[in-house]
Amino acid sequence: MSENSLVPKEKKEIGSPTARNIAPTYLKSRTDLPPGMVVKENAPAMHAADRKKFVCYMPNHLQSHPLPSHASGDKNDKSKDLKIRKKIWLLVEEESLTNTSWLFNIVSLLNKEGFELAGKIATPQSVITSLLKDLSHEGINVTGTAEARSGDMGIYFENLISICLQDKISDIHIEKRAWNSVVRLRKHGDMIPFDRNISNSDAERLSSIIYNIFASEQGVMFREDEFQVATVDWNARGESVKLRYQSLPTYLGGFDVVLRVLPIGNDEEVITPLEDLGYSPQQVKSLLEISGRPHGALIIAGTTGSGKSTTLKNLLMYINRARNFRCKIYTIEDPPEYRIPFVSQIPVNRAQAEKEGKNGFSEPLKAVMRGDPDILMLGEIRDHETSDGLQKATQSGHQVLSTIHATRALGIPPRLLNFGLDLTLLGSPDFLTGLIYQRLLPVLCPHCSIPFRDIITSSSSTQDITDLAQRLEEVADLGHDNIRVRSSHGCEKCNGMSIIDRTVCAEIIAPDLKVLHAIENNNIKLAEHYWLETSDNDRDSMNMTGKSVLEHGLYKMRQGIVSPYDIETTFGQVNSTLQRRKELSELLAEIAGNTHE
Ligand SMILES: [Zn+2]
Repeated sequence: MSENSLVPKEKKEIGSPTARNIAPTYLKSRTDLPPGMVVKENAPAMHAADRKKFVCYMPNHLQSHPLPSHASGDKNDKSKDLKIRKKIWLLVEEESLTNTSWLFNIVSLLNKEGFELAGKIATPQSVITSLLKDLSHEGINVTGTAEARSGDMGIYFENLISICLQDKISDIHIEKRAWNSVVRLRKHGDMIPFDRNISNSDAERLSSIIYNIFASEQGVMFREDEFQVATVDWNARGESVKLRYQSLPTYLGGFDVVLRVLPIGNDEEVITPLEDLGYSPQQVKSLLEISGRPHGALIIAGTTGSGKSTTLKNLLMYINRARNFRCKIYTIEDPPEYRIPFVSQIPVNRAQAEKEGKNGFSEPLKAVMRGDPDILMLGEIRDHETSDGLQKATQSGHQVLSTIHATRALGIPPRLLNFGLDLTLLGSPDFLTGLIYQRLLPVLCPHCSIPFRDIITSSSSTQDITDLAQRLEEVADLGHDNIRVRSSHGCEKCNGMSIIDRTVCAEIIAPDLKVLHAIENNNIKLAEHYWLETSDNDRDSMNMTGKSVLEHGLYKMRQGIVSPYDIETTFGQVNSTLQRRKELSELLAEIAGNTHE
């Protein structure tokens, strides 16, 4: 957290309880400090007179706290904890605060002592003297009773983040309703209750602490009745985390605060093999072949949370390594979701830019194009400006990777058409080199998931199960395939969820000339037909060429990796691609018949 983001420019009124949680720029008395402690190690290498002019203070929310009992891993690595523990505020006599060279020396000395400056606050000499007196004892706690509770919520939040990092939680939902509040977490795509006993006032306090103290948008207070957006930078267990904050007022005076957890991670140099994300070996080959070309656009479509960013990050790292780090890669992202080594990542804040009546993307895009790029990753194509940027970058001979909102791979060209690109360009062999659509499906727990055939034969089987079995018979062999579904209570190994992870299901199209020709003629149905025709029509083969995202899912379902229920909630009925194939060839046969007449 930068110093500037913590300390607002204008003087804050520090009497109100909400403002008290924020670092004030000016302090009247020591009771105005948020709960925390004076730090004992007060830079001993310093001249005695200087030592009397400031005091190091650590508010509770900057302190590290014991990990939850089930924490594991880096227990022995004390250095990471130490780094967080030493984040401090500097309470400085007002006059010295204007002496920049003196301040610079103090901060340098403190850095040497292992302190990291979180903010500085103008403080009367009397308060400093009073706090320094306590330094003759052990580090003392300054914790007023009225403030203790907000300190507790700070600890609550920090523990929550620790759990999120350990358990791969993707989102935190704080939901306040008229009658009660609840905190729920999204894990492997499912919403699970985390705290059903949080009081309404604690939910309010928690949300306001997160927004008022940690969000980068300072000077604005948390309001239950507004849609607020912010970015929260956070350090926990030595790991950097970014949280995307969105609040939404709900019916009857409640609100939701949703935090997307984006672990930036310390293992940034480790490339996750694309197979491990869930692509088939042939899909990986195809992805690498497409992105290895000198120019062209590779575009991934999928809903939020479909693993697009993870794929792009690993793909960029792979390309970079394959080219011996001898290429210049830029990304423009809103905001960057991962730290990618040896890549210039340009963050943009489109929401903020739009408030100012700007596009947010055009300026960085122009700068990047002047910045001598080889490869460019555009966070998302979502309007005329970004699609125009995609066209210019590709036509000037660059490899561009990006994402778009579409519901299938061949939904991408029509989206680009809507964003102003013309059909000749879309059908050109040098432009769209890769069209990808993907989703993440929950991976069944191998210990407690149940064979589907046991359910059909059980006495409690229902009409819905019989119907599903009928559909499944068209795409699988119920007698031989290992089709499994979640158990209702899970087991110890999966924390009762009956799922243990998520896996990518994807359709990857490297459009050939036939497909491109159909795209150029704006005949997406024909393009789809040509593409589906390239399939080997062998449902047991791992070759996914010409196979839909659903067919990739079905392949995993027959191996017992994903459940048919999850497939149907994500893609629709299990036999729908089969029907689509039939319909398309009938339709095209009919059209062909008509043209011959
Ligand atoms: Zn289990």
